[in-house]
Amino acid sequence: MAVTKSAPAAPTTAHEGILRRQSMRESAARTYARSLPIVPVRARGLTIEGADGRRYLDCLSGAGTLALGHNHPVVLEAIKKVIDSGAPLHVLDLATPVKDAFTTELFETLPRQFGDQARIQFCGPAGTDAVEAALKLVRTATGRSGILAFTGAYHGMTAGALAVSGGATDVRVTRLPYPQDYRCPFGVGGERGGELAARWTENLLDDPKGGVVPPAGMILEPVQGEGGVIPGPDDWVRRMREITADRSIPLIADEVQTGVGRTGAFWAVEHSGIVPDVMVLSKAIGGSLPLAVIVYRPELDVWEPGAHAGTFRGNQLAMAAGAATLAYVRENRLAERAADLGTRIIGRLRQLAGQHPGIGDVRGRGLMIGVEIVDPEAGDAGVPGPAPAAPVLASAVQRECLARGLIVELGGRHSSVVRLLPPLTLTDEQAEAVLDRLADALAAAERTVYRRHETRPPL
Ligand code: PMP
Repeated sequence: MAVTKSAPAAPTTAHEGILRRQSMRESAARTYARSLPIVPVRARGLTIEGADGRRYLDCLSGAGTLALGHNHPVVLEAIKKVIDSGAPLHVLDLATPVKDAFTTELFETLPRQFGDQARIQFCGPAGTDAVEAALKLVRTATGRSGILAFTGAYHGMTAGALAVSGGATDVRVTRLPYPQDYRCPFGVGGERGGELAARWTENLLDDPKGGVVPPAGMILEPVQGEGGVIPGPDDWVRRMREITADRSIPLIADEVQTGVGRTGAFWAVEHSGIVPDVMVLSKAIGGSLPLAVIVYRPELDVWEPGAHAGTFRGNQLAMAAGAATLAYVRENRLAERAADLGTRIIGRLRQLAGQHPGIGDVRGRGLMIGVEIVDPEAGDAGVPGPAPAAPVLASAVQRECLARGLIVELGGRHSSVVRLLPPLTLTDEQAEAVLDRLADALAAAERTVYRRHETRPPL
């Protein structure tokens, strides 16, 4: 038998080995790991260093978790302090000085009318756990079962949270229009779009034949994140508050992603000045470690002891890291900084849109920014309205960003919105570096995708 000699395999680096083992051993459901094949080994602030020695500017920030970037000194210090004190790390939901300090700091930041009277429930460690708790709370308090939620919403991956996010389950959700300018469901955009969305909501709720299951609550993201970075207009948010208040429907603000200065106010509900009945908080409140809570009006606190339990509701390190983060954001006015820098970045991106037909829209609030990538050549010529989404081009932009050492996320209904969620500690120089790399990546992605189209055989 002839022996064929195969070429010697190229030596694999540790970095490649780890990635290969991950793709062999981890679930097909893995997400970020697919589009960002990097192996982080060290990180500080905006920068992540990979096992291959490459450095990346991280504008994903743990999906919007890292208000202060990676390993901020105040966060590390707070964690070390707890460890050095010999405090227990696992305490279920027992009272501890660390939890007491976290709660005091969190209450300090809440909208004033909410303030000291609010109740807090520590939930399982993820945002979706807190969403579940909020839904359960309002159902218990009102004795009703329906939930009002919005088109494009994202609230998590557990059954109830998934249902209000648009998944199919038996939780009875009435879906209402979330206003947006670029792809306005009513084709008008602007103030008028918000007004029509509010009218639709009012009309549906008051229509005895509207088919609405009597609602226990309305859950609303003040800025939709995963849905494609869509800021809810302030007037419309106020209308939602009035409409729910008039009908005794508790309003739940999901601030999992928008909280802790991200949108240019400490909490995004402050932009419209409304006071919700329940706030769902996670991500940044744990200072990079898992932590999720709901805070709510005391009148809603009618559930039974143990009504929402869970083993991991006492993460002391997360509470210490979270308290340090909340205090740092508050004391250093990082929400204002996010508002100012975000406005400038959005302005620069809009200039960039002038040179790139592939940018359909630039929008955002504070340092929660989205660039919608479209195909200007596609769609029905002569039919007014935005060009169709271009997920292939968007994913090329993400790849080209990574090749230039910039980590961005994709979101939106068609995965065609490039999302920027940099830390609130981003400096002006770092913002310039991010914009430069993004501009280069856009040009490169347009070149590759359009070139491929030109060489496509005629149909
Ligand atoms: N609500 C919102 C607004 C979110 O953005 C997310 C996560 N992206 C969640 C809830 C769910 O949080 P988690 O992934 O921690 O369960």
